[in-house]
Amino acid sequence: MTARILVVDDLPANVRLLRAKLEAEYYEVLTASDGAQALAIAVAQQPDIVLLDVMMPGMDGFETSRRLKHDPETRHIPVVLVTALDDRADRIAGLEAGADEFLTKPIDDLLLFARIKSLTRLKLVVDELRKREASGRRMGVPGALPRLDGSGGRILIVDDHERQALRISAELAVDHRPVVESDPQKAHLTARGPVDLVIVNVASRHFDGLRFAAQLRSDELTRHLPILGIVDLDARERLVKALDLGLNDVLARPVDPQELSARVRSQVKAKRYTEALRSNLDNGLEMAVTDPLTGLNNRRYMTGQLEALMSRSEQGGDPVAALMIDIDHFKKVNDSLGHAAGDDVLREFAARLTANVRAVDVPCRYGGEEFTVVMPDTPLEDARRIAERLRRQIAGTTFDVVLGEKPFTLTISIGIAATNGSRDTAAALLKRADDALYEAKGAGRNLVVTRAA
Ligand code: GH3
Ligand code: MG
Ligand code: MG
Repeated sequence: MTARILVVDDLPANVRLLRAKLEAEYYEVLTASDGAQALAIAVAQQPDIVLLDVMMPGMDGFETSRRLKHDPETRHIPVVLVTALDDRADRIAGLEAGADEFLTKPIDDLLLFARIKSLTRLKLVVDELRKREASGRRMGVPGALPRLDGSGGRILIVDDHERQALRISAELAVDHRPVVESDPQKAHLTARGPVDLVIVNVASRHFDGLRFAAQLRSDELTRHLPILGIVDLDARERLVKALDLGLNDVLARPVDPQELSARVRSQVKAKRYTEALRSNLDNGLEMAVTDPLTGLNNRRYMTGQLEALMSRSEQGGDPVAALMIDIDHFKKVNDSLGHAAGDDVLREFAARLTANVRAVDVPCRYGGEEFTVVMPDTPLEDARRIAERLRRQIAGTTFDVVLGEKPFTLTISIGIAATNGSRDTAAALLKRADDALYEAKGAGRNLVVTRAA
């Protein structure tokens, strides 16, 4: 589950800047200063994502992208082209050269990380399919990695800005089957039918687009639908909230047609891959490792992961840390809003937990209102920093998914433990984290406590 990112740029200053940003979020960074070097590294090191500058002497970004997409050893790796702002000709050429995404300079950090997360998620699915295909071939079963493209999608546009909605619909009608709905209730019903992607105007005037997205996320039938939000880049708080709620991607207003079609295509493609994987998966197997309320991995899965990581760590691998998280006074939420609303809050909490840990971390529902995060390659001090950031994020941002209720805040208490060398077990490590959690509760809650071995 590690995200390894290859940054390609001929200017050392650009490489340094991107490396610093990515490493601050704990991504592993590889670098190359020209196209040829990028191709060699991509084959040898198999990064999860390539961030590619367009303007490079010799082989430019377009040609590099074309070659990456031509080589069977690298064609599954998502390519993000970094283009100059407003250079639409570059974007079109980039998409034609097979790039999956683009970012414009100067790079907006929020969008950078949103896109990386969304591409990492897709890559995990594609990798899993590739693995199955390979093992199927070994066993003589014909390989079944579908060649899925991102056209012909059924797209629901939820927007009460009529002109904008019609413009988007007309643009998408070239490759897809769009429908427009301006009423959120009706849109929710439509979304329960056959839909591949929902585009919602977060800045709609007559309804709250984020609330609508949250409703889709808490409905069993629409939970897995990809959602693309149309946002105002200046409304930072709404933008952060949108990404926290688990919107798959965002598009800035005014909507650029090329960007629209690129983002829609990659979301539709992702949906189809995920579906192929899901239908391909032994359903019972997935159920056994997933918590049905939040969609997070469950305790059984978590324990298995932790044991595997710890045994690797014991054989000279990197340290492993675990967070044990408990929502403070959760009973009050149930008592005042009801159990069903309590469930919605747990779902929103799970989405925010996922959004606020690193891509390599494994967030799980331990049970009830208790959650764990397993953190590979993480010393105690790093785990503490991430936990503290999470604690602050939760306490500092209101929960407002519950229909008809005023937004309210929640706090969490966190206990942390990390591996302590030999003869440590998953059970012992979780016990230490739990003891630390108990201490945090005793000391007043809304606190992070670490337990040294
Ligand atoms: P504190 O942890 O701060 O000590 O207080 P608390 O009120 O959160 O602690 P306690 O462990 O006593 O209560 C946990 C509550 O969580 C009680 C239980 O009804 C509720 N809960 C557990 N699982 C679920 C669930 O799946 N849905 C809902 N709605 N509530 C749940
Ligand atoms: Mg509890
Ligand atoms: Mg609690």
